[in-house]
Formats: sequence, structure tokens, C-alpha cells
Amino acid sequence: MIETERLQKTGQETATQRCIDPGCGARFELNERLYVCPSCGGLLDVALEAYADLDPQELQAVWTSRLASFDPRDRSGVWRYRELLPFAAGAPIVTLAEGNTPLYDAPVSAAYCGLDALTLKHQGCNPTGSFKDTGMTTAVTQALILGARTVVCASTGNTAASLAAYAARAKLQCAILVPRGQISHAKLAQSLDYGAAVLELDGNFDDAMRVIRELAEDESIYLVNSINPFRIEGQKTVAAELLHQRAWRVPDHVVMPGGNLGNSSALGKGFKELKDLGLIDRLPRLSVVQAEGAAPFASLFGSESDVLTPIEHPQTLATAIKIGAPVSWKKALRAVLESGGSVLSVSEQEIADAKAIIGRDGVGCEPASATTVAGIKRLVASGVIGSDDDVVAVLTGHILKDTDYAINYHQEKLYTHDRALDKIKEERRLAGTYSNPPARVKATKTAILDGLRRHEQEHSGDFKKEHVSDLD
Ligand SMILES: [Zn+2]
Repeated sequence: MIETERLQKTGQETATQRCIDPGCGARFELNERLYVCPSCGGLLDVALEAYADLDPQELQAVWTSRLASFDPRDRSGVWRYRELLPFAAGAPIVTLAEGNTPLYDAPVSAAYCGLDALTLKHQGCNPTGSFKDTGMTTAVTQALILGARTVVCASTGNTAASLAAYAARAKLQCAILVPRGQISHAKLAQSLDYGAAVLELDGNFDDAMRVIRELAEDESIYLVNSINPFRIEGQKTVAAELLHQRAWRVPDHVVMPGGNLGNSSALGKGFKELKDLGLIDRLPRLSVVQAEGAAPFASLFGSESDVLTPIEHPQTLATAIKIGAPVSWKKALRAVLESGGSVLSVSEQEIADAKAIIGRDGVGCEPASATTVAGIKRLVASGVIGSDDDVVAVLTGHILKDTDYAINYHQEKLYTHDRALDKIKEERRLAGTYSNPPARVKATKTAILDGLRRHEQEHSGDFKKEHVSDLD
């Protein structure tokens, strides 16, 4: 029998919202409409106390049996693992068959990093092209449970695109709020198609946040910002899906990009809960990679301090992680430390080159995702990751999220925004180390065959030789 209401009920009945601040630890009812702890302003977690009662073998068998089911809940890579989620069996699930993302073997990227093997968990293969969908399916379901009519976020990035799609599925109104002039066009296109109200505000981002807090007082409006604990609940199921795909073999390392750090927090929570449940006997070491110009978390990790210092003007072409004050840093730090992982940053050049290398494995990603391969290369070089370690990189966004970046890299027209350093334009140009520009040829058979020969000469093993020899 595929439905396991008994299993699910145990978790749902005991779930609460809990303040993560150890000095506070206040608890609140699951369906109380909260965004932060009303006692201390801290972040909230969803806690399911009954986990220990669930039988690991029984769960694995049920989840595997669902792979052959056509029930929409079973087709979702999030709701397939619904015993881990704080929702009752009859919840009004809003799904686009999210999750179910591939785990790719990536030999070119592995050789580039100095590894025997590397696998890529491509969360960019979600319905709207980013990992956000795995959290939006649960957050928008919670919006319906709370009786909201409108869902709101302040973003024009992947979050907006994802929220707009799930709101459309749920027949909820969706408002995307942004300061005027800060609309990123590639991702905005999705929000418009999904029918969201995109509202440009007079004012800066602080004004947008203030207005949002005021709006949140309205009962009919539900905020789906990055601290929403129900988003984390959906996103944590990636840990279960990843391990399920690997027949529950735990990798040595899981490496992911770090921006607002909600995703790192979610994966950390996911692995920990699976360990508490007895589905795995150890945690993978969870490492987070940031872009050099937007690396407050990496700075914190490398320092004596236990408080994150925000960066006022974060700079990186990897726009999905261009964040100076990551809201979920405490949760992410807890996850990294518990697992024995690390936090590091990589340069714009390293990100650009790593992205082109991932492409040579036939896998496209947005720039932020490529911090993983760049970071793994560094961790292998410094001996933190061994060349025969079992490593998974989490890619978070699809290549079509930012095609300008790819085209500019391959035509050697990719410039950083390093204005602070007073560099002239040419000094800000990133090298097209593995560039693959288009070539203009005459419309004759000879010219085309010549063009192919030239392309082959220019690119045959242009990085493979160099890096494979590193391994000897
Ligand atoms: Zn609190």
C-alpha cells in the first residue's frame, strides 16, 4: 500500500515552529502565521518530534514503491518524501512535479577538479529552472492552509519566477515587489508569463522590506520570503532524493553555492533528520562556496568572530548569490559545523571557467552554480577533499537563466563590476580560458569542413590534457 497515513500522521500531529536561538527556544503552533520568533526576533524552524518512531526500512520501501505510482504526490520529488514534511495527509498540495532532478556523472568536471569522479545534482532541472521550486511547493501549500488570498515576495530573481508559477497553480494572486530600476530581465520574463503582479516601488530595497512588513499584518497576505520555514521544509527533501538516488550511500562531501544560505540550511536539516531517523549512519561533509565579492559567510568562517558582518555592496556576476547580508547564516553555520564541512570563496574568473567546464560535460548551469566546481577544485588542491573521495556538487539554476553571461564569456566580452578598485574596463575583462566563440564561414562544403577542423584543433583536449596530467 502506497499511502501511509499512519506514518505521516505521527509527524504532523507533533510538529511545531521553534525558535532556533538556543537562548530562546520558544515554540509556537505549526499553523500560527509567523515569520520570525515573536519573543526574540530569531529565525524559526519546523520541528517534527515523532521522527524517532518511524521505521527506516519501512520508509525506504514506501518511497521506492512510489516511484512506480502516478499519484501526483508520488510524482513530485518533494511530496514523495511527505513523511518528512509537516503537512497532514489531506493537505491541499500545490505541485508542478518539482524535484526529480538528475544526478549526473561529470568526468570532465572531475578531471578539472583533480577528482577520480564527481556527480552533479542538478536542481536547475526543476519546473521553473531553479532549486527554489522544491521550497515553493510547500510554502504555497501552507499559504492555502492559512487561507491567504495573496502571496508576496521582494525579488525579481529565481524566487519571484518560482513563486509566480506556484501561485498560478494555486489560483492565488502573486505580488512581486522591487525597487524601481532593479528588475533583472531574464527572470522577470517568467514572472510576467505566470501572471504575477510585478510592482516597481519608488524607493530602495529597505523601503521595499518596510512595506512588506506592513503588508504582512494583513490576514489575506502571506509572505514567502527566504526566512519562511515552510520553504526550508520542501528544500530539505533534496537530501532524501539525493540519497535515494544513490541507494542510501552517503557521499563524503556535498558542495553547494552560498547566497542567502537558505538552501545550505535546508540540506543540512535534511541530512540531519535522515540520520536521526536511522536512514543513514553519518552526515556528508557539507561545504558552501561563495563568490569573492559577496562572501560574508566565508569571511565569518575564516575568522574568530561568531557574528556575521554584512557586506554593503556585494559584487559578483553570479547574480543569484549576490547577497551581502544572508538571512539564514545561523542555520547554515550550524549545518556546516555539525557536518565538519568548510566555507570558502572563489574569484569571478574561477566561476566563469568552472561554468564552461561543467558545460563540457553537457550540463548547463547558471553562474552561481559553478562556484561548486571552482570550490571543489580548491578543496582538492588544499587536501581537504581527497582525489578518490565521493563528492556531489549541487547545481542550483539552469543555464537559460543567464544566457548573456555565457555568450559574453565565449566571446571574451565578460566584464566584472569591480568599480571600487578603479580598474579600467580592460582590466575588468575575464579571460575566456575555455571560450568557444562562433566562427563565420562561407556557405560551402570545403569552408565548413575547414571550420570543423579548425574548431577541433583549437579545442581538442584544451583542458583535459593539462588536468588529467595533474592527477598522475
Ligand atoms: Zn526566539
